[in-house]
Amino acid sequence: DEEGLTCMVCQEGYKYKPNEVMGVYVFATKLKASNVYAIEGTAPGVGDGGEASSEFPDLMDLLPSRLSSSQRNVSATLVTSVSAFNTIHLSCHDQAAKADRNLSKPKSEFEGATLRNSRCKCNSLLPINGPEVSSDAFALAIERHFGNVGGDASKFRLLLHDMRLLALRIAHQENLRDEVGGGSLSSNVKLLTYQLQLGLYLIETDHGAHVDEHVRYKLALKAFVDAGGSSHAGSSSSSSSS
Ligand SMILES: [Zn+2]
Repeated sequence: DEEGLTCMVCQEGYKYKPNEVMGVYVFATKLKASNVYAIEGTAPGVGDGGEASSEFPDLMDLLPSRLSSSQRNVSATLVTSVSAFNTIHLSCHDQAAKADRNLSKPKSEFEGATLRNSRCKCNSLLPINGPEVSSDAFALAIERHFGNVGGDASKFRLLLHDMRLLALRIAHQENLRDEVGGGSLSSNVKLLTYQLQLGLYLIETDHGAHVDEHVRYKLALKAFVDAGGSSHAGSSSSSSSS
């Protein structure tokens, strides 16, 4: 029997079709020209010279209260995604979409997909990497996903904001079901974990993203992780470049 994620059409997954890219249906909504930092909640104590700010200077520098006013006014088109967590092979999705186009009453790609997605609205497939998926096939799936969702930040940044917004919406107990007509809390928490996996892939392969920004996030995270031990992470040399 297949283990783990399975395709809703052929019922197979990465065990029996290890090189077929799978994706999870998501519904991504654009937030036009948002002020990136205005959607941020303000953590108590941040920026007031508390203990944390001296321990993790690189990390603290990423927080809105520490940014200069010009940095704080950056606006970008961001995306917020939700999911009912139905997974499908991209090839099975394409075949089904082709069949939908050839119906006497043709359906658009994601009209048909909505029926396959437990009748929950969807407009893209967030790619899920598998053990034997070729990097070319995965890169195509990534391009396709970000082409569907739009937005004007780098892929990694867009994804990170998407995750942040989803976590924020979950934390504030927003009813995510209303937006797409379904999808449980666990579906959306699961989505977060696969977004994280994709984010790591984007960092490691540096897919169409801004290196400087990656380096900055990476250093900040590394400093945070390193500080878990006794040694304090040294200050990075990348802070002044951007
Ligand atoms: Zn399939």
